Amino acid sequence: MAAIRSDAFVFFGATGDLAYKQIFPALHALVRRGRLDMPVIGVARSNWTIGAFLARARESIEKHCSFDAGTFEKLSARLQYISGDYGDDAMYRRLRAALGEATRPSYYLAVPPSVFPTVVQGLAKSGCAEHARVIIEKPFGRDLASARALNDTLHTCFSESNIFRIDHFLGKEAVENLLYFRFANAFLEPIWNRNYVAAVQITMAERFGVRGRGRFYDEVGAIRDVLQNHMLQVTALLAMDPPVARDAEVMHDEKLRLFRAMRPLTPADVVRGQFLGYRDEPGTAPGSQVETFAAVRLEIDTWRWAGVPFYIRVGKMLPVTSTEITVELKRPPQIIFDEAGPCRSNYVRFRLSPDVFTAIGVRVKAPGEAMVGNETELIAHRQAANEMTPYERLLGDALNGDSSLFTRAEAVEAAWRVVQPILKDPPPVAQYAPETWGPAAADSLLAPGECWYDPVQTVT
Ligand code: NDP
Repeated sequence: MAAIRSDAFVFFGATGDLAYKQIFPALHALVRRGRLDMPVIGVARSNWTIGAFLARARESIEKHCSFDAGTFEKLSARLQYISGDYGDDAMYRRLRAALGEATRPSYYLAVPPSVFPTVVQGLAKSGCAEHARVIIEKPFGRDLASARALNDTLHTCFSESNIFRIDHFLGKEAVENLLYFRFANAFLEPIWNRNYVAAVQITMAERFGVRGRGRFYDEVGAIRDVLQNHMLQVTALLAMDPPVARDAEVMHDEKLRLFRAMRPLTPADVVRGQFLGYRDEPGTAPGSQVETFAAVRLEIDTWRWAGVPFYIRVGKMLPVTSTEITVELKRPPQIIFDEAGPCRSNYVRFRLSPDVFTAIGVRVKAPGEAMVGNETELIAHRQAANEMTPYERLLGDALNGDSSLFTRAEAVEAAWRVVQPILKDPPPVAQYAPETWGPAAADSLLAPGECWYDPVQTVT
């Protein structure tokens, strides 16, 4: 049964950074596509006039996407701004009045996580939550206990089917393609398991540091910021079993089974690093032990994956900015051509960013008398950049009530369960020089004969 479409969009934190960088451009794009035919209300504490709010919206759109005057005019006609304290009943009364005849609004909480419970309870107490949806930004908790507490709070006011937890990675075309490529083609299935796959590597490398957000980052670190969410979500899409239908609930069930099969990480499965110079960043604590790099070796306890290591690496100030997956296939059972060489021969590579392609690594014979060859890649598919930004895609889906690309309560908790032991008992951070691939100790996670697949910079 098709979900009912929301009839208003409200975003809290309308004066903030996320609104400026992502939400206004996404709203502009939705209007341009004719997908935002409803009141749009920004809420924040700052006492702005509607004129100041519209000026901010315009500046944001001009800066972050291609501004279209006609589209902006339509969007402006729908925009309203409400200021007030999130703990104040009067603010929700004003919001209810501004919603007019709308009865099924979507509320987007683009506010600091500490404010989530206040807003959710304010919406419920004022009657604004009835028949409504809530969209929650990351981070969803900072450990298993806080994620559970936040789920409990949300469930007192909203049913699970009306809660949309954002992981913007899931709104990326290249990430969606993982699911599509795996299950729209039959040739992969026979080899996509422990019989043919030697190891899987996922690297999310950033060439930049904390970009002035030292205070935020020092509370979070790489494991909480990107590994527990983006990287485990990508792992789930790579490793889950085929869903029996396209239905969102069926997909969620398969992903959940996979999350539950991930063996919780122990301190021996992780290497944490911190780039030299991190502690000089404004906002970081003297002697901070927060990791800007993490490498883990993850096991998935299913018949399909038992014994296949999943190596995940994330880090800042690395040599390139790129996210890439390499599914390394086992070597042929006999070395006929006498050139075993190091790793890096047969694999499937998914380049997720900055450019997007799928490639198959093979060996081919070099011309000449000798039966020796070279490594080469068959580029199976090169994809254009996102047609929609992840935020346009996800906000549009949430308004339509399509939860396929959002995360469910149980999945979020299962993902926290995987990293919980290394949050509780983190190994020490090793420092690494900027523009290197993190601490050398990361190599110790790999099986003998394995090496890291380092993404190369192909797009500047
Ligand atoms: P900001 O720090 O910019 O805060 C957003 C707005 O919330 C501010 O403009 C402020 O508006 C209001 N606010 C700030 N502190 C408080 C407080 N203590 N109580 C009530 N309101 C407060 O955050 P971001 O926009 O960067 O992020 C919003 C959410 O999105 C967060 O949960 C963040 O983790 C998440 N996120 C952000 C990303 C980003 O790139 N910025 C990326 C991914 C997720 P006012 O004072 O006017 O009320």
